[in-house]
Amino acid sequence: MEGEAVFIRRADHGARILVVDDDALARRSLRAMLERSYYVVETVESGPEALALLTTYQPDLILLDIQMPGMDGLEVCRRIRVLPDGDLLPIIFLTGDERLDLHAEALRAKGDDFLRKPIRSAELIIRVRSLMRLKRLQAEVLAERDNLLDLQKQREQLFEFIVHDLKNPLSAIQMGLELLDTGDAIDATSQIQVHRLRDTARYMGRMIQNILDIGRAEQVGLELRRTRFGLATWMSGLQQEVESQAQSRHHQLSWECPDELEVEADPECLQRLLLNLIDNALKYSPSGSHTRIMARSEGSGVRLEVRDQGEGIPEAMREQIFGKFVRLDEGSADLRSGSGLGLAFCRMAAEAHEGRIWVEDNTPKGSVFVLEIPRIHRAGLRDPDSDGGKA
Ligand code: ADP
Repeated sequence: MEGEAVFIRRADHGARILVVDDDALARRSLRAMLERSYYVVETVESGPEALALLTTYQPDLILLDIQMPGMDGLEVCRRIRVLPDGDLLPIIFLTGDERLDLHAEALRAKGDDFLRKPIRSAELIIRVRSLMRLKRLQAEVLAERDNLLDLQKQREQLFEFIVHDLKNPLSAIQMGLELLDTGDAIDATSQIQVHRLRDTARYMGRMIQNILDIGRAEQVGLELRRTRFGLATWMSGLQQEVESQAQSRHHQLSWECPDELEVEADPECLQRLLLNLIDNALKYSPSGSHTRIMARSEGSGVRLEVRDQGEGIPEAMREQIFGKFVRLDEGSADLRSGSGLGLAFCRMAAEAHEGRIWVEDNTPKGSVFVLEIPRIHRAGLRDPDSDGGKA
């Protein structure tokens, strides 16, 4: 409306600005310019005073004179940048010095902007506003990031709760299937179905346990229950667990292990590691393939191999596939079921045993997954200050 002033409240209206300048006249004139634009101004006349004030007062921006007796503005800026959140505070340097290289020096000291005296009001206010705007956007991005991190944490917790709650019903299904299998109430065809269901339930159980263990390992590390055991007997338990699954896929499994070979390790954890590798060999090899599972002594350790005739793994991916959620051919229509967590669990389990796991080419085709772990757990020989004793 004609003749009537329209007052628009800007977002930085009332923002706090700290002026640091040893020249009283400069302080007065800067205060006047800033207050005319509705900023709230605080002034001090030296670097040490500014640093002391910052322990109790939080400005939104600092105007910092470079030439001051005692501590110069460049030094004050460097000290502010190492304070908690000090690197987020917008700082504009002011100087009456004509030297050209001073600008570069000011930026090296991590100032955000630079103004030469005499300061013109319009220019000062434009620079202050644009830095305030950047600060606001930065604060919004940081708040958004914190929000996303919170949400991600909540989702991970929810995911873990759900997965954990799947364990009990799955155990009930497994027990029911075992009971059906032992009675004579079912005919041969139904028995094949029961075996398939039992194998699928076991596979699901391993997936669930991988997810729970990885979540737990990331928080407190994998807890191992080490004992000394013979690998040959242990392998026959493994064989029973997967044999019918392999048969239903017309997949031949062969097992090789010297009778006397012993290891000090967590048998259950090692079994899940090997079962993950065998699951993969079955999943990623054509029907009718042959997979060899071998254990042998190697120096002071034990070497376990799963040698399949599957599609192999491109060299560029041989390290990545041990990462969480990494799957080859992601997005392809024929992607087989899986979570991309099996090999991540294998790596964690290998490392918890102070061992290594990797994949090589098999000849003429397929992959060899190799696990090497020490035969004896050398806890007593380890550095007592290291935290590896958790495992
Ligand atoms: P998942 O099998 O649940 O996808 P894994 O972590 O066990 O997850 O394996 C990651 C990926 O590595 C698989 O998706 C598959 O692409 C590839 N992979 C694993 N084992 C083999 C194998 N024996 N042969 C070929 N590819 C494999």
